[in-house]
Formats: sequence, structure tokens, C-alpha cells
Amino acid sequence: MLVLLLLSGDMAASAGEGASADGGESEAPRLYEAALDHWMDRETRLQRIAQRIALAGAELCPEDLAPILGVSIIDTTALDKSLERLAHTRYGSGSRFVVAAVFEGMAGAKAGLKPGDVLLRWGTIEVERLHTWYANDKVHGTTSSLLVRRGDSEVRVDVENQRGCGFHTSIRKGEDEINAYATGRDVVFTDAYMRTQGDDVIANTVGHEFAHNILRHPGRRKHRDFWRSRRHEREADYLGLYLSARAGYESVESKWSDRVGLLGVFAFERGITHPTWQERTVLIQQTIDEISKKRANGEPLWPNEELQ
Ligand SMILES: [Zn+2]
Repeated sequence: MLVLLLLSGDMAASAGEGASADGGESEAPRLYEAALDHWMDRETRLQRIAQRIALAGAELCPEDLAPILGVSIIDTTALDKSLERLAHTRYGSGSRFVVAAVFEGMAGAKAGLKPGDVLLRWGTIEVERLHTWYANDKVHGTTSSLLVRRGDSEVRVDVENQRGCGFHTSIRKGEDEINAYATGRDVVFTDAYMRTQGDDVIANTVGHEFAHNILRHPGRRKHRDFWRSRRHEREADYLGLYLSARAGYESVESKWSDRVGLLGVFAFERGITHPTWQERTVLIQQTIDEISKKRANGEPLWPNEELQ
């Protein structure tokens, strides 16, 4: 009798993993699958925009060039534990850097990288941090050799080294604030930013944050210096608009006004006076006009201002 009870208890427990109490199939596994897909889609959207800008802006970041793979990669250790476990079920146990998407026309696609490939090695370097993929100054020459796991086998793939601005761009999960920032080597967007903004606004902001890195602003801002940070913002707006324009993204004034309006709210909260932001809007519009004129005349999109 006791044995039977234990057995039935065991059966109930194992049935509970895949089915709900009323005998129907549980929604939970499907929802986790969808959550992982959504995360990968958001990363892919950001990385597609950022890598287009990185390649088109190569001439404007000569000190920061690195091979741009032309794939979006997720770091499964950055996921919630439940999604990390699901990624391991899907892509193989211990999978860390998973190719979420391959961008048409870029190096990874030409070399035959595929969604679901797990990145293991770049040249002789075992990949421990995702930065390595974007700031791999040990990679020289025209191609690099990648080792990837595809299903049960390991595959070697030779990828052309298309160099661009080597700043790894990623999303920080679980942030309610609409914000993006540059760290000197990386660019980080909050989840809320990605959920609420369109591609052109995101591209303008990627350009702005790349510009902060190119101009070495993060390292220089050692203490809160109001005048210096104002100058840095103006320079990043200026160079950033060139960066996003070169990749074919629009800098529409209304979108900028929205964005500046949005930033203005935060700025107001932070105690910066309003005219600063009006001034910023005017300078942004001047830059947009400057770029439009060059486009219309078929001139290359090089900034007029000497920055550094
Ligand atoms: Zn800024």
C-alpha cells in the first residue's frame, strides 16, 4: 500500500512538469521559449543597427578598429537563470555565446555562420568575454578563423575581417529607465529604451554613444564638471549624427525633438537648466542641415569640425 502511494506521488510529480493540474498542457514552457526568442530578437535589432554604424563609420574611428562579424550574439550568462537553462537545453549544455542572427551581406553570412552556432574560439583565443569578439586587437590580417559548435560537431569557419568601430553594444536587462551610455569600450542600452524607441532614434543614440567612446569622453570625465560634460554632449551629438547618417539612418528633427524632450525631462530632474537643452536642439538641427546639404551635393559625410 505504501509503495503504491509513493509511486503515484512520483507519477504526479513528473506529470506536473509538462501538464497542468486539470490535465491540459501547461503554458509555462511555451512562455519561456517565447521570452528567450524575444530577448534574442531585441539583441539582434540593436546589434544589427550598431554593426551597420560600426562598419559605415570605420573612417571616423581609426584608433578603435576591430573585425565586425556581422552576427548578433547573446551571452547566455547575462540571462535570467531560467532562460539560461532553456538556452542550454536548446543550444547544448554550457553554451555561452550563441549566434542569434546572421546579417545579410556582412562577413559572418558570407562565411556561412548560422543562427544557433555556439562560438568557442577566435583564432587561438578562447572566448571568455563577449568584448573579445569586438575588441580583438590580436586579430590581424584579412581573415580570422573561428571555431563554432553546430549541433553535435565543431566546425571551423574562416571569416573575412571587415573592420569597423569595435564597440560591443548590448542590452542591460530589467531596467525601467530609458537610458543608454558609453563606457569607453562598450555601449549599453536599457531594456526600456529598446522597448520604447524606433530604429532611427536608436541609431542616432548608438552614433552618439560611439562618438563618446571615439572621443575618449568616458575616461576624461573623472569628476562632475558641468562645462566639460556640456561640451562632450555637443561633440557627441555632432559626430554621432554623422555616424548614424553614414549608415543610412535618418535624423529627423521631430524624432530628435522627442528625444531631446525626453532627455530634457531627465535633465530637468538632474537640475540642468532648460536653455541648455534648447541650445542643444538648435545645434542638432544645424548638424542635420549640414549633413543634408552634403548628401544633396553628393559630398562624403565627413564632419567639418575638428574634434578630439
Ligand atoms: Zn551623451
